[in-house]
Amino acid sequence: MRNWFREFWQGLVGRQPLHLDYLQVEVTTRCNLPGCRMCPRSAYPDQWQSQDLSWENFELLLPTLARFKQIHLSGWGEPLVHPRFWDMAKVARGQGCKVSLTTNGLGLTEAVHSQVLEHLDMVAISVDGAQAATYEKLRPGADFNRLIHQIAALCARKQEIGTRRPEVVLLFMKMRPNLAELPEFIKLAASLGVDRVNATNLDFIPVPEMEPLAVVSSGALDPKVEAILQQAEQKARELGLPFRNFPLRPTVDLLVCDANPLKNAFVTACGDFCPCVNLGLPVQGGFTRQFLGRTVPTHNYFYGNIQTGGFLDHCGQPAYRKFTGYFRNRVGRMHSLLTDLVQHGTVATRPRPGSPSASRSEPHYPWPPACQGCLKTLGF
Ligand code: SF4
Repeated sequence: MRNWFREFWQGLVGRQPLHLDYLQVEVTTRCNLPGCRMCPRSAYPDQWQSQDLSWENFELLLPTLARFKQIHLSGWGEPLVHPRFWDMAKVARGQGCKVSLTTNGLGLTEAVHSQVLEHLDMVAISVDGAQAATYEKLRPGADFNRLIHQIAALCARKQEIGTRRPEVVLLFMKMRPNLAELPEFIKLAASLGVDRVNATNLDFIPVPEMEPLAVVSSGALDPKVEAILQQAEQKARELGLPFRNFPLRPTVDLLVCDANPLKNAFVTACGDFCPCVNLGLPVQGGFTRQFLGRTVPTHNYFYGNIQTGGFLDHCGQPAYRKFTGYFRNRVGRMHSLLTDLVQHGTVATRPRPGSPSASRSEPHYPWPPACQGCLKTLGF
């Protein structure tokens, strides 16, 4: 970790090239589906700002791309509707980065399979159901059978030409209407020949009406839910299919969220830099997030625009340094725990959040104010 800080700092002061992990580039906020049940666009249809990343702004991003190991060409829209998506993927690859994509898969027709094989290192496809009726209810307007056929054809093409790239990952967002199908979904994924399944959570719930879709819980899990998860994990083991199952219960004392703004960044379709997708929603004004039954008002958090400089110009700005400072403090907490452990063989315990002794001393290492109410602070 210390080496990483040294590399980061030396990169900032120009002593060596700065290489961060992952830049997420939102190429569009438009979509080819009218409104999925779990999508924030369905919650904010009137405020949603539909737009594509312009080619001019993409070109301004090129020096920034070279600073990251991986470019993920996805945000809140469906990337494959951008008319120049494949040009962007090709150019990003030319910067020496790995290039990846999250898509609803409907645009992965056989006509674009050559581009997929040539320009992508990883493609993640959101499927969210093992049966057509469940999937199509969650994603009105989508065609399950066509999607499955396209995924099978892509995997068969990879096999035919003997390539491992791109890695094909299926994303199954665990929600109440589809959870029971997870074990069957693992079987389906293995039969298609994909490389991996990630069972994610609905971790951004903009309005109370969407909360009943979520399975995440602050309390004990329903035994039926536990049984489904165990069956899915067992099935994946039997079939030898790599499977990442995101936790449905909070991770106590998580130091850094999955988005990890210390190593990663996000650029919106407007060219704004921000820490993560959850702080760069394409809506005007503020918005809300549901946090275990509470509605938390929030807003976007931008620290610069590509029109006024690249990531290196903006990451020295007070807004960025202030935001990431909260995360650095939290990582510093881990250093001190590890140091205690190595030097003394034990760590000083601290009160559990919410306990009477904690309220006297909290906050020790708070999350940034902009992250309050984000379910990713609980590791979901
Ligand atoms: S906690 Fe949430 S809002 Fe904060 S950086 Fe992580 S994903 Fe973004």
